[in-house]
Amino acid sequence: MGCKIVEKVPKEVVEYFDMMDDGDTSIPPRFSCESCGAEMYPKDYIGLHGEHYKI
Ligand SMILES: [Zn+2]
Repeated sequence: MGCKIVEKVPKEVVEYFDMMDDGDTSIPPRFSCESCGAEMYPKDYIGLHGEHYKI
């Protein structure tokens, strides 16, 4: 299940993925870990449409 590292992803980057990932707004934007390629989610992020994702 990935390497468990916590990456600091700039908000702009998360927002970019959020934009690319329109459709289901009930799930946070996802992106791949740069180290191992595992799927990652932002831990605490307020989406472009005002959704608050907290994992
Ligand atoms: Zn990883």
